[in-house]
Amino acid sequence: MSNRTFACLHCRKLQRKPAVTHGIPCPHCGRECICVHWKLHVPAPRKKRKWDKFWQQYLLELRLIEQFRAGLIRHSMYLPLLNQFWPYVPKEALRKSERNSDRQWRRAKLAGRRTLS
Ligand SMILES: [Zn+2]
Repeated sequence: MSNRTFACLHCRKLQRKPAVTHGIPCPHCGRECICVHWKLHVPAPRKKRKWDKFWQQYLLELRLIEQFRAGLIRHSMYLPLLNQFWPYVPKEALRKSERNSDRQWRRAKLAGRRTLS
């Protein structure tokens, strides 16, 4: 199992631990640590400005993903820190494309029957 970086924002401490599904408590204060996406490099805690900027952006992007999944964001979004693009697909468009593919499939079936006979 690969290691992940866990951060306690209260103590400004980082620790490396095997990836687990649930939170790891901070060994110093007992608060739950935040698991950082494995692709991300967390700035050293002593670089205060970089650290603060990183966490501000990281927590913002996590919040945006949560809101996006909850259907609260109705546009595509790009998250620069995570380098992720979340395309927004309206429910209506989804249903329409489903209907279209269904029609295409029926047409293909009909065409197939025609070539068979
Ligand atoms: Zn702590």
